[in-house]
Amino acid sequence: MKRFLTVLFIILSFVPAVSAQGKSETVHTQEIFAMDTYMSVKCYGKEAEEACMAAEREIQRLDSLLSTGKEDSEVSKINRTGSAVLSGDLKTLMEMSLEVWEKTSGAFDVTVYPLVELWGFSSKEFRVPGKEEIKETLKITGSDKLSYDRESGKLVLGDSQKLDFGGIAKGYTSMKLKEVFSSFDIDGAIVSLGGNVQTYGAKPDGSPWRCGIQDPFSSSGQSVIAAIEADNLAVITSGSYERFFTGEDGKTYHHIIDPSTGYPAESDLVSVTIISKNGAEADALSTACFVMGMEKAVKLWQDSGRKYEMILITKDGTLHITGGLKDSFQTNSKFEIIY
Ligand code: AMP
Ligand code: MG
Repeated sequence: MKRFLTVLFIILSFVPAVSAQGKSETVHTQEIFAMDTYMSVKCYGKEAEEACMAAEREIQRLDSLLSTGKEDSEVSKINRTGSAVLSGDLKTLMEMSLEVWEKTSGAFDVTVYPLVELWGFSSKEFRVPGKEEIKETLKITGSDKLSYDRESGKLVLGDSQKLDFGGIAKGYTSMKLKEVFSSFDIDGAIVSLGGNVQTYGAKPDGSPWRCGIQDPFSSSGQSVIAAIEADNLAVITSGSYERFFTGEDGKTYHHIIDPSTGYPAESDLVSVTIISKNGAEADALSTACFVMGMEKAVKLWQDSGRKYEMILITKDGTLHITGGLKDSFQTNSKFEIIY
């Protein structure tokens, strides 16, 4: 059956779609496993297949550069040696990460990796560390303890520090895929990087792209709590339901760490979605806002000139959406608009 569905899926992926304008479209879909996540890329247009292949190559290239799990990745090398002269992608990522670190008062911090390791999220050998271990680890984390020179790209990590771009990598990847798509003759594309969506160009039938927001309260992980129309935008979500384990004490512990306490972040939020033209910033901000909680997330949005849109889901199940989404948003749940 599975084989049949796979074959059917492949066949359907190649069937030309007919647009509302009557134009025949080629559709190609590529399923990829990278960055510890199931991803899919779907392109429409003359060079749909070539664009999908190039997108996969770009995803694998960034994975080999950024993965903390691959010994020969550039990030792993830096984590071993403690210093490097950054160029290209890593330079951009480091600078963006430090900017978000600063404006979120440290809620987003790429030096959090020793804590991620301590809780077992890197090895998947989960455990609840002791208070003393957390206290000791907090002594080495903090972007204030590294030195970075923008001019030369020279990075020197503090003693025993390690980097993790896991909170920004998928958004950055979706941003880079836009560049890849622009060099092919395609009409549109939609990319899902583990639920983080990027849309590009036009949908063949001329209607807006629609993205589902995962229901954080659904145990299957399959249901959608809301949908938004998002053309040429990144729709990036951070949630406590995405990666977690249950400790021997029966409590659940998730993967987004509050850099100020060393524990999984505890706030009034269960999920944060950021909708922005800038995928990397949306990704870093979704992680940071999850740590900061509703009030500080809203304040940050206001202070940043309402440059992006947000869907914040609080523990009581209410959706809080920013004003710019009100005409492109559908839900059956209770929601409030933030201005
Ligand atoms: P996201 O799913 O984008 O919220 O990113 C979560 C991932 O980012 C985690 O699996 C960690 O690898 C890393 N991470 C956890 N907490 C933080 C934090 N406070 N700042 C930056 N990265 C983090
Ligand atoms: Mg993130």
